[in-house]
Amino acid sequence: MAKPFYIDEHECIGDGSCADICPRCFSFERGMDTARVVSFDCDEELVEEAMRNCPTSCIHYEKEGG
Ligand code: SF4
Repeated sequence: MAKPFYIDEHECIGDGSCADICPRCFSFERGMDTARVVSFDCDEELVEEAMRNCPTSCIHYEKEGG
């Protein structure tokens, strides 16, 4: 299970690469403007790879505590 994360939908350009890297956690379909987080049930490595490959760096971990 990955740490909770979110997509900043104002920054997302909807290229879908996060969903290619980790289809369990990210959902992106044709016609959508932005990707969505659908689960945290995956390997943290994949989330970090998606973060590194996101063209606008708009995938972030939730801040702890709040
Ligand atoms: S990789 Fe980043 S910009 Fe591309 S769809 Fe995913 S969150 Fe949006």
